[in-house]
Amino acid sequence: MYQGRFAPTPSGRLHLGSLLAAACAYMRAKQQGGLCFLRLEDLDKPRCREEYKQGILEDLDRLGLHFDGEPLIQTEDLSYYQNSIDNLIATGKTFVCACTRRQIRERPCTCRERGLKYRRGFAIKLDCEEAERTFTDERLGSIYVPLLPESLTLRRSDNIISYNLACVTDDIRQGITEVVRGSDLISSTPLQIYIYKLLGAKPPKFLHLPLITSKDGSKLSKQNHAMAVLDSHSPRDAVLYVLTLLNQDISGCSALTPAEIWPLAAKRFDLNALPKGDIELDA
Ligand code: GLU
Repeated sequence: MYQGRFAPTPSGRLHLGSLLAAACAYMRAKQQGGLCFLRLEDLDKPRCREEYKQGILEDLDRLGLHFDGEPLIQTEDLSYYQNSIDNLIATGKTFVCACTRRQIRERPCTCRERGLKYRRGFAIKLDCEEAERTFTDERLGSIYVPLLPESLTLRRSDNIISYNLACVTDDIRQGITEVVRGSDLISSTPLQIYIYKLLGAKPPKFLHLPLITSKDGSKLSKQNHAMAVLDSHSPRDAVLYVLTLLNQDISGCSALTPAEIWPLAAKRFDLNALPKGDIELDA
C-alpha cells in the first residue's frame, strides 16, 4: 500500500512552501488510496519550539488536512536513531570527529584518518565517499548531484541527531513508500539512499516538488520570514491558492470547505500539470 508523509520542522509556523509540500504529499497518497502520515521533525531543539508544533497542528487542522494516525514526534523516542547509528557503526563506515565548529570552518576535517575513540562532546560521522550521485525522481527523472560532502554528521557534538539519519530511520519505521518534498532536499537524497543501503533497507521512491521563490530567486522559508500562510489567507483561500500555484483544477471548489476540497483535489491530482521550474511570487 502507498504510504506517504509530510515532515515539517517546527521552527516556524506553516508557510506557503510547507503547505505546498503537505498538499502534494496528501493528494498523491489519497489519489492512490494510500495513507499519509504527519511527522514533526523537532530534533534540532534550539530551532524548534513547542508553540510552533502546536501552531502547525492547528493550521493543518484549519486547512482541513487530516493525516492518518497520530503524528510522529521525533523527540519522543530517541532510541530508534541511536539504534540506526549503532547499525551504521557496525558497518565500519563511521568515524569519530573531534573538530570544533571553528576548526570545521577553517580547515578540512582529518578525523577519519585519526581513528579517535568516542568521548562526550565528539561527533559521529559517516564516510560518504561511496554514495551514488545519481537517483531517479518520480517527477524530474534521472538526477545527478555533482557535489556530495565526503562525510555526513550522524550525531553532532552537542548530541543532536542529524536530519538525514533521523529522516531515513523514520521513513523506514513508518513504512514510507514514496517521499514527496521540496526540491531543496534533492542534494540530501543520494546521502539518504546511501544510509538505506548501509542499513540494508529498500529506499522509497522520491518525488521533489517545485520551490516557491520570491522575485529575487530566493526560496521562501521560515529563515527569510515567509509569513504563516493563515495570517494572510482564510483556510479556503489558502487551499485554493496553493492548488492554483500547482496548476490543479479547482473548478467547483469555491463554495466548498477545505476539508471538502481535498478529496476532490486528490481525485483530480495531476502530477504532470505541476510547474516545471520554481514558482516565483511577486511579493
Ligand atoms: N523537515 C524538513 C523540512 O521541514 C523536510 C524533511 C523531508 O521532507 O524529508 O524542510
